[in-house]
Amino acid sequence: MRTTTGWQSLEQNSNALARVTIERRDLRPDDIAVRIDYCGVCHSDLHRIHGMLGEKDLVPGHEATGVVVATGQAITGFVVGERVAIGTIIDSCGQCAMCEAGQENYCYNRPTTTYGGTDRIDGTPTKGAYSREYVLREKFAFRLPDGLDPAAAAPLMCAGVSVWEPLRAAGVGPSSHVAVAGLGGLGHIAVKLASALGAEVTVLSRSTAKEQDALSLGATGLLVTTDEAQVAAARGRFDFILDTVSADHELTPLIGMLGLDGTLCVLGNPLMAGPKLWELGAGRKKITSSGTGGLRQTTEMLEFCATHGITADVEILPSNKIETALNRLANGDVRYRFVLDMSDLDT
Ligand code: NAP
Ligand code: ZN
Repeated sequence: MRTTTGWQSLEQNSNALARVTIERRDLRPDDIAVRIDYCGVCHSDLHRIHGMLGEKDLVPGHEATGVVVATGQAITGFVVGERVAIGTIIDSCGQCAMCEAGQENYCYNRPTTTYGGTDRIDGTPTKGAYSREYVLREKFAFRLPDGLDPAAAAPLMCAGVSVWEPLRAAGVGPSSHVAVAGLGGLGHIAVKLASALGAEVTVLSRSTAKEQDALSLGATGLLVTTDEAQVAAARGRFDFILDTVSADHELTPLIGMLGLDGTLCVLGNPLMAGPKLWELGAGRKKITSSGTGGLRQTTEMLEFCATHGITADVEILPSNKIETALNRLANGDVRYRFVLDMSDLDT
């Protein structure tokens, strides 16, 4: 057994995590061991620490970058010293129709999540990347393309691919009118990706506070969702709305801003009470959702980001400041993603 160090949740009403020793398995033939250098702090980590799924003793973290430090006997795709990225899933059955379609994230036999899951072979709980070392199958690790800064690229592995997949599935491109609701970790990457895909992008935010940021990220404007007049004036304006709001909120006004056959894709957790269906009927509109990304989409997203120079806007903190990061994330005080620097776990 290998051991490493990481951060584990204590109680569901606390953002304080404890530094603990974590066991990692000895490498199987198709495993690699990765020294985690950076890990993004996703709002899902906060939901889960606060007990969304009733868990305890969670080591969160599913937006990681680092370097390969050891390889199993059968590894051909990675060598020691290579840059690598890890996302939200680390295994799947590999045989169901979803896995065969390259949508391992929707594996009918449940994908193994990077944390809070169960290893398919030995049944042990998976512990996430708020830690110095991670062990996973090479199939689920990604080569980090040259030119992407490893700290700023870490959030691509959840926030990035979670917005990339629905944008691609919706066929967003040069003639699309896209809105991104909630300018946070997911939202700010969605603005960058959608505008790089050629769409005209509007940010839907609670106030004008992020207006300048929205424009610098590539949006053409910001609409204030608490201003009923602005919402009414935008009736029918968008083909596709990507909703990344992290708290319960009304969906009906968003659907009202969709045009004919428009789609609202709700990514935030927990999923809130349903909208008024008549608002969907008034224009043949659709509501959908999505959950992170499959292997193929993740590779494609990383390549697109490398080509277009897209990474997250990050604030890097030593990993022992995780409580500060979670408190500030809970208060909406982040522009736009906290990334933990794991090197302090060596001392
Ligand atoms: P985040 O950085 O905290 O951003 C969330 C944004 O939502 C905020 O910046 C804010 O935008 C808006 N917001 C927050 N509280 C609000 C409220 N009470 N009313 C209205 N708007 C509010 O979070 P994130 O990491 O981007 O994650 C966003 C959500 O997506 C979370 O629920 C997360 O769990 C979920 N998620 C889903 C997937 C998936 O695959 N489906 C993947 C990752 C995360 P403004 O300041 O602009 O209003
Ligand atoms: Zn996440």
